[in-house]
Amino acid sequence: MHEMSVALSVVDQVERAARSGGAPGVRRVAVDIGELAGVVPDSLSFCFGLACAGTLLEGAELVTRSVPARARCAPCGRAWDTGMPPDMICAACRGGATELLSGRELRISEVHWSAPPNAPDPTPVPQPEES
Ligand SMILES: [Zn+2]
Repeated sequence: MHEMSVALSVVDQVERAARSGGAPGVRRVAVDIGELAGVVPDSLSFCFGLACAGTLLEGAELVTRSVPARARCAPCGRAWDTGMPPDMICAACRGGATELLSGRELRISEVHWSAPPNAPDPTPVPQPEES
């Protein structure tokens, strides 16, 4: 249950940010998920619902955004979508070195607080470390 530990970590971070910023609750959390991050969005949404129970995030909606995996060939500079399973070999030159540009993301990109109309701006949420 990799998704459960991710969901718990997201809930924990958002809840701490909400407490330090004085937000009474959370309406919506958006998470960017790289194609190669090994997280299934539907499973994460399901686990998020469970992880929210009894926290400030109870009832919050999770929005997942998929980030396509992109790779670049070091020798010739060509960039392409790797797809899944990832295609890591340059089709132009079969070059020997490929750099992954994106696709391993797993981060909170947005939090919508259920704040009263005159509340001060919420504190930005710290980004989780990439694994
Ligand atoms: Zn190449």
